Amino acid sequence: MKKSISIVGGGASALMLGCELDSEKYSVSIFEKNTALGRKFLIAGDGGLNLTHSEKADKFISRYTPREFLIPAFRFFSNEDLIAWFNDLGIDTFIGSSGRVFPIKGIKPIDVLTAIEQKIIKNKVAINFKHELIGFSDDNDVIFKTPSGNKNVVSDIVIFCLGGASWPVSGSKGDWLNFFTNKNISTKPFQASNCSFKVDWPKDIIKAIEGKPLKNVSISCGKKIYFGEIVITSFGLEGSGIYSLSPEIRNEIENFGSAKIVIDLKPKVSVDELVKRISNISKKISYTENIAKQLNLNKTQIILLKAKMSKNEFLDPIKFVNNLKNFEISISELGPIADAISTVGGIPLTEITEAFELKKLKNKFVVGEMLDYDAPTGGYLLQSCFTMGKFLANYLNKLD
Ligand SMILES: Cc1cc2nc3c(=O)[nH]c(=O)nc-3n(C[C@H](O)[C@H](O)[C@H](O)COP(=O)(O)OP(=O)(O)OC[C@H]3O[C@@H](n4cnc5c(N)ncnc54)[C@H](O)[C@@H]3O)c2cc1C
Repeated sequence: MKKSISIVGGGASALMLGCELDSEKYSVSIFEKNTALGRKFLIAGDGGLNLTHSEKADKFISRYTPREFLIPAFRFFSNEDLIAWFNDLGIDTFIGSSGRVFPIKGIKPIDVLTAIEQKIIKNKVAINFKHELIGFSDDNDVIFKTPSGNKNVVSDIVIFCLGGASWPVSGSKGDWLNFFTNKNISTKPFQASNCSFKVDWPKDIIKAIEGKPLKNVSISCGKKIYFGEIVITSFGLEGSGIYSLSPEIRNEIENFGSAKIVIDLKPKVSVDELVKRISNISKKISYTENIAKQLNLNKTQIILLKAKMSKNEFLDPIKFVNNLKNFEISISELGPIADAISTVGGIPLTEITEAFELKKLKNKFVVGEMLDYDAPTGGYLLQSCFTMGKFLANYLNKLD
């Protein structure tokens, strides 16, 4: 008789497992509490479905914090392999200007999901909706709440793919931590990542700067530095340029109560060059207008700089440029988990083997955002979930 595998949760990592587990060898079932698969996958596609990134392997893997746990799986199934996998599925992709990889124009996120679902159905995987995991029995079987009452499901292998805790409307609420702590498995509370960051902007400038982007800036926290775009909000800051610093900012807040980030508003121009441009400027128009013109600064940048400096500093070219290139901002807290793109926390990596098996619960595996690791936006989150799913499917398919 075939062995049975239960996949609990039906998001990105479960989709890959459903496609790739060998249904000649195993009888495979997915249990999802929603009435559809891949809700968060579709939400991720709202602003363009960023499936992965086109970076070279070494750079790609360096984006994960920590990264070691993912290296064997990524070597087995990299970003290039994922792109080829999608192409085989009939999903052609293109590389955007930032290096991010998307389905080609005309292919919508729902088309991608449908193609994956068809592969799962062809693979003879049973899909059970309205099955919500509510814990483990004394024998470590999984218990589901279903419309017809609670159900114990006995299977040879269970793979948990319950996701993190952001965007709870997608179904991924992260309300399963105690199921695992009850079985002596340590868990970590969830924290927001790729989220908004709280800044106490001076009240008199917030109306003028809210919603405005700072483009082509560099942002650093501690030793990490990233280039990109950030957006000023009434809450603080958000945007891809600062998301990548989530681990560093979170650490500083945890250790010191607040985090210091430093923005270089003109990262491509040297201090000397900037000082030279404003040292002998014409007096025909106002000083502010003049430096804005010479340094190509917009209204938002000028408002921020004026709010930070005394009049004397503003008028002194060296001090002005120093502030412009080292614009310090204090971040006091992370934004709400519900609005974050992803979370850290969940099951610590110390609780799993290299093959993602729980050390304390044999034949029970955990993959995807349930695990406590961090990755920035840019396709790295979905890639990691697909990579873990594919790697684990291959591992299980090869077991005797
Ligand atoms: C707004 C937004 C935009 C994003 N954009 C991108 C992007 O462009 N690129 C990128 O790489 N990543 C993006 N992501 C992140 C990406 O979508 C997630 O990292 C990924 O979906 C996680 O996959 P997963 O399989 O771990 O979990 P999920 O996809 O979250 O799936 C978990 C599943 O488990 C189910 N579940 C939860 N609890 C239970 C239970 N008790 N019983 C049964 N089922 C349960 C849930 O309903 C859900 O279907 C985005 C996320 C958000 C919120």
